[in-house]
Amino acid sequence: MFYEKILKSFRKNNFCPFCHEDKKFILAENKFAYITPARAPYVKDHLLVIPKKHALNLAKLKGKEKKAIFDLIMKGIKILEKKYPAVEMGYKEGDLLSARKTIPHLHFHLVPKRKRNKFSNVKRNFLDEKQLIKEVEKIKNF
Ligand SMILES: [Zn+2]
Repeated sequence: MFYEKILKSFRKNNFCPFCHEDKKFILAENKFAYITPARAPYVKDHLLVIPKKHALNLAKLKGKEKKAIFDLIMKGIKILEKKYPAVEMGYKEGDLLSARKTIPHLHFHLVPKRKRNKFSNVKRNFLDEKQLIKEVEKIKNF
């Protein structure tokens, strides 16, 4: 299913997917944050680091929550570096529209980089549960 359609349904139902992440999709977690494969990946093995508290901006988080996120960013980078020469970290700060956020819950993208990596203007797919479980199992075994 295409991501845009899913996003519309999330907005219509006032549903935050990051506040309702299923444990089986979590690769690693600590008290305040978790890592999961991106459900609408830019490229293969794209990971997200997400705080457990529903917040739009970093200013809404306490120091220990920001540290927990950073610890998991480092863990995610370590996982991806087993297979990729580089990792791009992405984060959008600001309000939903201005920052062009798609989900109103802050998150960091960890995007593995290859030598040539084209992912702009690609129509993103939304993984179903079976595909996402496969991603979790695959990445756990990196
Ligand atoms: Zn949320």
